[in-house]
Amino acid sequence: MTLHQLTSSRFKQQAAKALEDEVLQDNLVKLKGNFLQRRANARESLPEFDDLRDIAVGIKTHTLEHLDLYLEAFENAVEASGGHVHWARDDAEARNLVLAICRAENAKTVTKGKTMVGEEIGLNAYLEANGITPVETDLGEYIIQLAGEPPSHIIAPAIHKNRQQVAELFNDHHPDLADRGPDDVDGLLADARAVLRQRFLKADVGITGANFLIAETGQTVIVTNEGNGDLTQLLPRVHLVVAGIEKVVPSLEDATSIMRILARSGTGQEMSSYTSFSAGTRRPGDIDGPEAFHVVLVDNGRSALLGSPTEEILRCIRCGCCLNACPVYGKVGGHAYGSTYSGPVGAVLTPALAGLAETNHLPNASSLCGRCEAVCPMRIPIPKMLRHLREEEARSGRAPAAARNGLSLWAAFAKRPGLYRWATNLAMCVLAGRAGKRGRFASLPGAGAWTRDRDLAAPQGTSFQTRWKKGERPGTWA
Ligand code: SF4
Repeated sequence: MTLHQLTSSRFKQQAAKALEDEVLQDNLVKLKGNFLQRRANARESLPEFDDLRDIAVGIKTHTLEHLDLYLEAFENAVEASGGHVHWARDDAEARNLVLAICRAENAKTVTKGKTMVGEEIGLNAYLEANGITPVETDLGEYIIQLAGEPPSHIIAPAIHKNRQQVAELFNDHHPDLADRGPDDVDGLLADARAVLRQRFLKADVGITGANFLIAETGQTVIVTNEGNGDLTQLLPRVHLVVAGIEKVVPSLEDATSIMRILARSGTGQEMSSYTSFSAGTRRPGDIDGPEAFHVVLVDNGRSALLGSPTEEILRCIRCGCCLNACPVYGKVGGHAYGSTYSGPVGAVLTPALAGLAETNHLPNASSLCGRCEAVCPMRIPIPKMLRHLREEEARSGRAPAAARNGLSLWAAFAKRPGLYRWATNLAMCVLAGRAGKRGRFASLPGAGAWTRDRDLAAPQGTSFQTRWKKGERPGTWA
């Protein structure tokens, strides 16, 4: 299984570059104001939010336990409504299936509503190499397509760009339209609308992803805020959905239950502006809709996760909330992860799908603070899975020598409680003494990576074990 444009093996260099990029640092501030605060407000205003999370977890867990049955039911329902389902074991099969459908329709241009799986399998580059022009229609995706970049966020692919950068891109790529300044937001939007409208009308095939596949009805569901999903699936002769197999849910009611927490978690909206349900081909009397409807179901490593320690990541509904909450993502942005899937979800999903050989930095790109799990609407235990992947890395001998040696040393002490207590007490005394009245270190041998950017606090008081032995318990600690 491969994920397209995987550069996760260069995470450290990419992260260092991101930290030095002042514009990126400014742009990432939007995450907290735009998304996290709105999510908190949305959660606050819905008392049953946590109950809905439990219901959503139950639905997805049940579906994953019976995935084969629900996928077959979905296939049958799609065929009954005049559509076709195609199965792709890996990225190459998925690309070839899409290309074959486009070729059979003699397609020259395809419009695309956002599909992360399309990114995962490298669909745009493949279609272009085979003479078909893909046009992204989600505004953020359109911006990064002009920039020749991959998305940097699951739901806000161009979050790393500011208005100045967008205006420059539009002025360069829209030579027939007026030059726009960065504050002319309405003008920039009007330009994108004018250009994309022509592309919608020219497209032979519309490709979308799917937030849900409904087994009961054979419908595919896509949520957007711009209506581009509707136009992509309604205007061209052919609608083609590319989706991961884990997107299936049993019923319409299940999909709508999960939807109640999707937008609230991602953008803080009660619902996204558009929710489009597609079911098969145009029927007699329909005023619009495609003449042909295809769904390409992509495995690409997903079925191998069933029953594994990372199975629960298949519950992910791609709301992007864990990215917004993650302090690491908030500093390095999405491109540093070098994968379609970035942030905490990507740090699990990318190694789970692509293996640890090229991705072993990602599970380590976390402080394990737990904020991702706390905000995840699907209650996915991301820190637990990151720890599992770190264990795998250590077992495979891929962990850096310094980490391996450090852990072996720590283990040697930890297995001998008396020695451990003596050593920690001694280390605390020495460090407290060396730090003096200031109580912190501006530099400390062995902790250079920490003290390069901030002071390190010296230990205070006595060790945890000493206090525990004295009968002190957390409730009595200041
Ligand atoms: S892991 Fe959870 S928070 Fe992150 S994108 Fe998936 S559902 Fe959203």
